[in-house]
Amino acid sequence: PAERELLRIVIVGHVDHGKSTLVGRILHETGALPDGKLEMIKAVSARRGMPFEWSFLLDALQTERDQGITVDTTQIRFKTDQRDYLLIDAPGHVEFLRNMITGAAQADAAVLLIDAAEGVREQTRRHAFLLHLLGLRQVIVAVNKMDRVDYDRAVFAKIEADVASYLDGFGLHPTFVVPLSARDGGFVKERAEGADWYSGPTILGALDKLTAPPGLGDLPLRFPVQAVYKFDERRIIAGRIESGRLSVGDELTFEPSGATARIRSLEAWPGPAPLSAGAGQSIGLTLDKDIFVARGDVAAHGKLRPRAARRLTARVFWLADAELKIGTPVTVRLATNSATGVVRSVASAVDPANLTTEGIAALGRNHVGEVDIALHRPLAADAYSINPILGRIVIEVDRKIAGGGIVLSAASEDKSPA
Ligand code: GDP
Repeated sequence: PAERELLRIVIVGHVDHGKSTLVGRILHETGALPDGKLEMIKAVSARRGMPFEWSFLLDALQTERDQGITVDTTQIRFKTDQRDYLLIDAPGHVEFLRNMITGAAQADAAVLLIDAAEGVREQTRRHAFLLHLLGLRQVIVAVNKMDRVDYDRAVFAKIEADVASYLDGFGLHPTFVVPLSARDGGFVKERAEGADWYSGPTILGALDKLTAPPGLGDLPLRFPVQAVYKFDERRIIAGRIESGRLSVGDELTFEPSGATARIRSLEAWPGPAPLSAGAGQSIGLTLDKDIFVARGDVAAHGKLRPRAARRLTARVFWLADAELKIGTPVTVRLATNSATGVVRSVASAVDPANLTTEGIAALGRNHVGEVDIALHRPLAADAYSINPILGRIVIEVDRKIAGGGIVLSAASEDKSPA
């Protein structure tokens, strides 16, 4: 395989439950630390008469980052034999939610850390809720500091049951629950002694067992039209292939109109006309029929096409001062298209600063909620879980960006078969 898989992960948990320690340990065990760094920090700690903490190491890396010397600790990378990992860090929930929902940073999976001696705490619950808000389906629960409870199986089982029942409340199921000692290294890469009752994977083993999302090239075709040019007698439809592939001879369906035609030729500048092209490429194409196509249409293959949506339910991160509420007129931008519409409902508003649910049907600045929007004309759209490009929207009010969101569901109101 030419390309290595990349999995983007986030580690969350109550403060002091061992996040920095786990990150430092993972970097060490996977050989991701700069040469001699660990020894140096250990020596400095010893000289100061302080017991070594893995967080010192991360702090040192952070300082160097600030000075522009080494790694960016908000984008920590490590690799296993299996694949590459990107550890996404965010200064706080608000930034994290905003980045995830507006597309600045995406995580594919999460590790939820729980201190074995402390058990599930309020912050643990909030972080679990955060993972749910972000739509993350792959969650590893790591019961850390197992050395503090002598790898007691009953303690582990109790926490496992507690967290599973809480996650179950929003339809989330832990993919793995791993006992761990981030400090001593137990079940990070190697198995721990005195815990023969546990037969599951180590934390690195569990990460390797998660599913990486399909690359954009492996998803169904989405070709949003950027422009239509008249060239001599020919009409060239130009755009960027956001996902999938297309080839000369393919039958395309253009949404939202539903018109179909075959690709007669592909055009690329500069260079000779290719016979096929894939995700990430900007191309032009000509069709065998003179159907109506305009900027904003999305070409796809037959049955695998996006919805011509008149109704969008989206999880929205709101950025504007004016509230988003029932009746707010909005413009929804999606790929190269846009449509005006009106907010029909706002549900599950959450203040991400403290991750509490607001009992109100409006979104204030920096709030997150589920918003139902009726569009005045259809837009080609996908649920974010189906296609991340056609499943992301920008919301404008009075021509200013006021929010961003991921599409939870897209419906053609007339219920015609999709
Ligand atoms: P964070 O706030 O979640 O980043 O927590 P830290 O990684 O800074 O850890 C908080 C404290 O817990 C530190 O003193 C760590 O040494 C300690 N700690 C972390 N992991 C373990 C562990 O597996 N076992 C024990 N006994 N202590 C740990």
